[in-house]
Amino acid sequence: MFDREIEAAKEAVRHASRVCRAVKRKLEEVRAIAKDDKSPVTVADLGSQAVVAHVLEEELGHVVLVAEEDAKTVRGMASSGASPIVDALLEAVHLVWPDATAEQIFDAIDRGGQEPPSGSNAFWTLDPIDGTKGFLRGEQYAVSLARIERGAPTLGVLGCPNLALDKKKPPNDPDPVGSLYFAVHGQGLWEARVGA
Ligand SMILES: [Mg+2]
Repeated sequence: MFDREIEAAKEAVRHASRVCRAVKRKLEEVRAIAKDDKSPVTVADLGSQAVVAHVLEEELGHVVLVAEEDAKTVRGMASSGASPIVDALLEAVHLVWPDATAEQIFDAIDRGGQEPPSGSNAFWTLDPIDGTKGFLRGEQYAVSLARIERGAPTLGVLGCPNLALDKKKPPNDPDPVGSLYFAVHGQGLWEARVGA
């Protein structure tokens, strides 16, 4: 059960984790160009949400995705000329979605801006970066995605780009590989490398 959904969710979270990692590598550069300390979080949050929405739709067709971000601000930045935040967003997303236009990325972000459906209809929910402070410090954060059916989670995937599979490693020492956790209701919980 849920084979297609769990595979799609794992791929989505892996891609989002790669985007976050890429933004983190250029964190100081993005901060300096945008002249804003929080700009790397904005870029990684939006990039993570865009690729999760894109992969889910590619793999599963139309889905309802309830997530934190919308593209209103970046659309405004893009329409008023050159924007370092939009440039950094495009560069990060292109790592995993190479031919995406800015408009396609904004539309994907906005597909996550849906309200939870009423009644028992299934939906997905995403926190594109769970742990903003951890992300900024180079410590722990997660890309957190779940599918909700009749009000209860049926599957969940957590991408933890800085968390070592070896739990003896101190958590404030970012791991170069990272971990992926996924669970399916009634079936079990598994761990893997996030980059694998
Ligand atoms: Mg968040």
